Amino acid sequence: MMSRAFNGQHGRAYLFDGVVNVIEGEPNDRPMTTGKHTVRDIYCCRCGTTLGWKYDKAYEASQKYKEGKYILERHLLVDVQ
Ligand SMILES: [Zn+2]
Repeated sequence: MMSRAFNGQHGRAYLFDGVVNVIEGEPNDRPMTTGKHTVRDIYCCRCGTTLGWKYDKAYEASQKYKEGKYILERHLLVDVQ
């Protein structure tokens, strides 16, 4: 499931193919160091904590592999350690 490590806003973050028990927010365009992306914030369905985001769309060809995947920074990662 975990395919790659990233540096997220709060340190190391991980890219997942799918996550459970989350609520997805509305899509919005966000400029990132790797180019423009359309992303949705994702929240824990139990406590509402922001967990990371989902990539709806990547505009740079080199970033297309992220589409439909999720970045998790904290919280759920703690549960599985
Ligand atoms: Zn929670």
